[in-house]
Amino acid sequence: LDPNASHLTPTDRDIERVLRPQAFEDFTGQEKVMENLKIFVQAAKLRGEALDHVLLHGPPGLGKTTLSHIIANEMATGIKVTSGPVLDKPGDLAGLLTGLDTGDILFIDEIHRLSPLVEEYLYSAMEDFKIDIMLETGPNARSVQISLNPFTLVGATTRSGLLTAPLRARFGINARLAYYDAKLLTTIVLRSSEILKTPISDEGAYEIARRSRGTPRIANALLRRTRDFAQIKGNGTIDTEIARYALNALNVDEHGLDEMDNKILSTIIDKFKGGPVGLKTIATAVGEDEGTIEEVYEPFLIQEGYIMRTSRGREVTEAAYKHLKKNYPGQTGK
Ligand code: ADP
Repeated sequence: LDPNASHLTPTDRDIERVLRPQAFEDFTGQEKVMENLKIFVQAAKLRGEALDHVLLHGPPGLGKTTLSHIIANEMATGIKVTSGPVLDKPGDLAGLLTGLDTGDILFIDEIHRLSPLVEEYLYSAMEDFKIDIMLETGPNARSVQISLNPFTLVGATTRSGLLTAPLRARFGINARLAYYDAKLLTTIVLRSSEILKTPISDEGAYEIARRSRGTPRIANALLRRTRDFAQIKGNGTIDTEIARYALNALNVDEHGLDEMDNKILSTIIDKFKGGPVGLKTIATAVGEDEGTIEEVYEPFLIQEGYIMRTSRGREVTEAAYKHLKKNYPGQTGK
């Protein structure tokens, strides 16, 4: 089972839409980010201006798309949704930009994957709300500048390290979403169960939450699958017992770690005696991109206390040995 974004079925996507919070008050967690966003939104509304451009970064499934829709709802504006890899010509972007009404949101997911040409085209749109478009082709070709309605670009990225400095500089608001703790995820699971009309105990919700890798998207996906087990193998209610049964049957890791998390930990232990070892070396050994490990996997492993960052590289902790049921050599073992 891999409830990550790229493997979502169409039904998953429908359910995801249903479960998506619509307003600031339905959005759980990310307190600091939310506190500031609310102020910026309120101030922009008061002045009757478009909100400053917003950059949301953080690992997949933490609520970036959700937040962009909430911002549009709270600003009472329209929203157009696209993504970096989809926008491959400046013309595609021009079409979107000229269709925006005053104050509308343009949401660009995976904004780190914009082509350099499209990115450059975006600069003047963001800065002066102006773009150049080409009229006609051949000998009569000429470019004219047109004005856009003031809009808000909301960019989302899992890999902020790949963003160019000029693009980054054009966002007035910059927010990083962090992994959720089990308590916040429990709240999210309880809210989702209510929407899905699935009876669940607080303990059952907690069991799902703590095995969801700090990620609301995974928590919601696991809830759906656990619900099936409750209906077929139980009495319809998700309690601790049925949640444990389901999650074990689904092969969900006891602490919510995914395959790559476990691979990273076991590689550091088996091949590098627990570390310290450099990020690049780890990346080569597990066959994953260095930046993805740094921005997507490692933050969770550090937050949960499995890995430490030291001046000489990454080192696993005793908790990692315990989790993988390996003998901890202790400090003297290295
Ligand atoms: P991202 O764009 O960061 O990959 P999404 O915004 O698509 O993540 O969120 C994935 C799912 O998780 C959505 O169905 C959404 O309902 C849920 N979700 C994300 N953040 C929250 C939150 N803070 N509270 C409740 N549900 C959330």
